[in-house]
Amino acid sequence: MLKFDVLIIGSGLAGMTLALHLAEHRKVALVTKRDLLEGSSTYAQGGIAAVLDTGDSVEAHIQDTLVAGAGLCNEETTRFIVEHSKEAIDWLIELGVPFTKDETHKTGYHLTREGGHSHRRIIHAADATGAAVTSTLGQKIKAHPNITLLEDHIAIDLITSKKLGQPGNRCFGAYVLDKQADEVVTVAAGHTILASGGAGKVYLYTTNPDTATGDGIAMGWRAGCRVSNMEFIQFHPTCLYHPHTKSFLITEAVRGEGGILRLPDGTRFMPAHDARAELAPRDVVARAIDFEMKRHGLDCVYLDISYKPASFIQEHFPNIYAHCLELGIDITKEPIPVVPAVHFTCGGLVTDLSGHTDVDGLYAVGEVACTGLHGANRLASNSLLECMVIGRAAASEILHTQPVELPTIPSWDDSRVTDPDEEVVISHNWDELRRAMWDYVGIVRTNKRLERALNRIKLLSEEINEYYSNFHVSNDLIELRNLVQTAELIVRSALLRKESRGLHYSRDYPDMLAEARDTTLSPGA
Ligand SMILES: Cc1cc2nc3c(=O)[nH]c(=O)nc-3n(C[C@H](O)[C@H](O)[C@H](O)COP(=O)(O)OP(=O)(O)OC[C@H]3O[C@@H](n4cnc5c(N)ncnc54)[C@H](O)[C@@H]3O)c2cc1C
Repeated sequence: MLKFDVLIIGSGLAGMTLALHLAEHRKVALVTKRDLLEGSSTYAQGGIAAVLDTGDSVEAHIQDTLVAGAGLCNEETTRFIVEHSKEAIDWLIELGVPFTKDETHKTGYHLTREGGHSHRRIIHAADATGAAVTSTLGQKIKAHPNITLLEDHIAIDLITSKKLGQPGNRCFGAYVLDKQADEVVTVAAGHTILASGGAGKVYLYTTNPDTATGDGIAMGWRAGCRVSNMEFIQFHPTCLYHPHTKSFLITEAVRGEGGILRLPDGTRFMPAHDARAELAPRDVVARAIDFEMKRHGLDCVYLDISYKPASFIQEHFPNIYAHCLELGIDITKEPIPVVPAVHFTCGGLVTDLSGHTDVDGLYAVGEVACTGLHGANRLASNSLLECMVIGRAAASEILHTQPVELPTIPSWDDSRVTDPDEEVVISHNWDELRRAMWDYVGIVRTNKRLERALNRIKLLSEEINEYYSNFHVSNDLIELRNLVQTAELIVRSALLRKESRGLHYSRDYPDMLAEARDTTLSPGA
């Protein structure tokens, strides 16, 4: 058994922030299922929203967030996070993150503007902000003597007093599969943090990396935590559709520069959906594409910028041009095949402003959590900010509590399981689940489709749980079990929302109700 003061599950910006704030005073284990830098944080392109410019204001940033969230943001949380935004960016600058500079600007940094923001307030490192942040913080993590980094270790389940048959419900760490050694280790800790990211992989198409399988949401739920607003899944309208690439975004700037969305026969369809045509907001464009794909039974639609001069395209979109060309698509001559793809999980484990969940000693920070900041629709570039502000608050709370005495924890018992005989069950169910979620729980929902999805999820869930009880755990099995659990929570939440609000659009309830309410599910109920 390994013992630490704090166990952090996940090494994205949330996990790294916590590790660095805690490590001066506590022994920390940072467990991550692939390598240190693999996670959504590293792939973030745009930047981080913060009130840095004197012409901007905390009130304006709060207001923009509330408007995007369609009446469902928690105002106290939003204020707390926005008020601490400058402090969070100052910390990153102190650590040496190379944000893009602009000597002509009062702040010394270049601030960009994104959809939904009323001011220029996105600080960035060119178009690869996430990578600049995680590589800088990653170096500090690797050099810190109080941080034990366990890469290629996947957390399976949390250890709680309830599961140990003791009174109350306190978390004491987790069982973790060491993937290299293929053995389960017990990692015991007085405080445990789920910083495991979102759940984009529940769907067939996603901009998220393979790590985003909802593990933390499912582990937290099994341990006794409530989840909230799981039905709000944000889609990016244009992700490249090609069998040999995944998670490649086609930036909105292509539409901004005149890109036209067409059906396979060349028909332009956006003007029939919205007067702003291709320049309508993200969710409107995503909904229109989804509608056309379902109506015509298409695998993708096409984004066409080829009518512009080749030199213009190459100059404005060098990365997209090069990437598509590698795949045999010359975007100066032909349209780009695109599909909407899941981008962000707005809901998650219910937490307070210090990241505390319903289970004692258990925190959730980052995309895994639902603090109330994102409401029914996330404002662009607010998520990295949330990781840092709540991460710091959680660290501060942990540092103010006494170290916890750990009980005796039994080792992982795999005496009654055998080696899997039919791994095809895993790959088949994985594909079936993600396809069902895509087809039935996508951008436009109906009661009938959601019920179809729930029926399939129940069957898959039974089969997967039976498999889990009989065979040795593997990375794919752990992820699949969590995916199916998270999918069920999304569908059950969507069925409970009898209106269309923010990212949840139902054909059966196209109107928005007067009162905005969170959808909250409790494990016992
Ligand atoms: C392509 C893309 C672009 C984006 N651009 C922006 C942007 O410009 N600005 C912005 O604010 N947001 C952006 N976002 C969203 C933002 O990147 C994420 O919301 C944020 O990075 C989440 O951080 P996190 O630390 O919660 O999770 P992640 O960064 O996803 O990290 C999760 C970590 O948990 C690990 N993990 C998961 N399960 C387990 C397990 N069972 N055991 C052990 N480890 C586990 C993973 O391996 C990973 O290390 C973007 C997202 C994507 C995908």
